[in-house]
Amino acid sequence: MGSIEPLRLLQLWQAYHQPLTEEQQRKFLSRAELRTLCWMDELIVIDAIRHQPKLAKALEIARDTVTTLNIARDTLASEIARDLDAANEARAQAARRKAETKRKQEAETKRKNALNREAARRAFDLQKSFEGQRVASRCKACDRFPDIQGRCGCS
Ligand SMILES: [Zn+2]
Repeated sequence: MGSIEPLRLLQLWQAYHQPLTEEQQRKFLSRAELRTLCWMDELIVIDAIRHQPKLAKALEIARDTVTTLNIARDTLASEIARDLDAANEARAQAARRKAETKRKQEAETKRKNALNREAARRAFDLQKSFEGQRVASRCKACDRFPDIQGRCGCS
């Protein structure tokens, strides 16, 4: 995106169209349209004068091209911004899903641990009550535990 020197534009114009006399060249270089064209993008200006020898018309073409390109550029910019938003949103959603999965897994682990602790506590209580029953069944006379038939050393 560079501007173009008036003399270069004159040379190009003559190459595309026809050689000009010195007088015509002076008039060409003094045109207001030329000064405007020289501030515009080089490629756009060259393309315009290549197709249109009249500077006023060439300027119109160049301006249309600039407008068209600006619209295309804006469209592209908003498309890129939209795609970026969508990508960011997808990433945020994936992160939320991952956090949710992690939270569920942690809750599940906690629940299992609580169940295991409860089972262990019940087994311990059961063991204690069994031990209590066993001690209670000890023979008062011989101080022995009864066998599987309920007999101790006394009987
Ligand atoms: Zn006994």
